[in-house]
Amino acid sequence: MKIVAFTQMESNGTFAQDVPLFADAIKASGADIVIVPGTSRFKRSMPAAALRAGADIDTNVTDVTVEGETVKAQRWAYRQRILATFSRTGRPWVIVTDPALFAEISAKLGVSETKEFGAGAGDTRTTCNGVQAAGGGGESTIRPDAKLLFVAGAGWTKKQADGELHLADAASSITTFLGKSGASLGSSKSLVDMPEAAQAFNFMSHMNQVGQTGSTPRHAKGLSTCCHGEEPHVVGRRFINERRAINLDANCGWAQGKADVVYVADAFEVMKKINEMM
Ligand SMILES: Cc1cc2nc3c(=O)[nH]c(=O)nc-3n(C[C@H](O)[C@H](O)[C@H](O)COP(=O)(O)OP(=O)(O)OC[C@H]3O[C@@H](n4cnc5c(N)ncnc54)[C@H](O)[C@@H]3O)c2cc1C
Repeated sequence: MKIVAFTQMESNGTFAQDVPLFADAIKASGADIVIVPGTSRFKRSMPAAALRAGADIDTNVTDVTVEGETVKAQRWAYRQRILATFSRTGRPWVIVTDPALFAEISAKLGVSETKEFGAGAGDTRTTCNGVQAAGGGGESTIRPDAKLLFVAGAGWTKKQADGELHLADAASSITTFLGKSGASLGSSKSLVDMPEAAQAFNFMSHMNQVGQTGSTPRHAKGLSTCCHGEEPHVVGRRFINERRAINLDANCGWAQGKADVVYVADAFEVMKKINEMM
């Protein structure tokens, strides 16, 4: 079994240049196992390089055991809840370890050859010379430093009491409020997934989604509008202490103990009034 270690000089590299470089090195090494320290440079490019070289790869490996020709690796899964011990039959097998464990794991594997990579393309990296129209502008609706998280839900895109859609009114109410309050805009998944919302609400995207499969922002207060307050959404609000919601439905999720105050009201009306008062 041929075990080759990859190491690098203190250096940075670009993904575009490192991937072919590492892929060729994996193929040329003829190794069964390539062991690599998980520096930022290797971690950035090694998975793609392994794919390109037809190799198997495991990152964040914390330990190995060697019994004859069988190598078993150990790594945590499910956010450090399960410690998995496993092996692979595919070769070459790239094992990426924590840099601090690299020497110990290399010794256990019995490295037969080391390949050192020189300085990467650090000096050819793009540098930022300046920024135009950034910062104080109101273009971004995601504002991590805002005191208030304003959440828009799919209700804004639903037919209202008059049986009609009011997408333009909705967009104007939301953007006017964001402009006047400086609040950050969050969204439910249902809203950002809707094609009609993508068109009418071009100031938001999946990046605004809050919840189990979205973000978990940390604003002091949260105001939810036209959003039902289902658990997969509400978990994303767990660090927001003061929560209020506006919903037509007195039995919505927010009213089931998930908000401090629920206004059972038409959010179109309430936001219009708030915008007038601000
Ligand atoms: C695995 C999984 C992961 C998920 N992850 C997420 C996630 O990360 N984030 C997330 O948000 N969801 C997530 N969901 C989806 C989640 O379960 C809900 O489907 C979603 O949050 C519902 O969005 P909503 O409340 O905006 O829409 P709806 O459920 O359609 O609710 C719309 C609400 O608007 C109200 N409304 C309508 N008109 C008005 C008006 N004029 N005034 C006031 N209220 C009005 C209605 O009463 C209704 O309560 C996930 C689901 C699954 C299965």
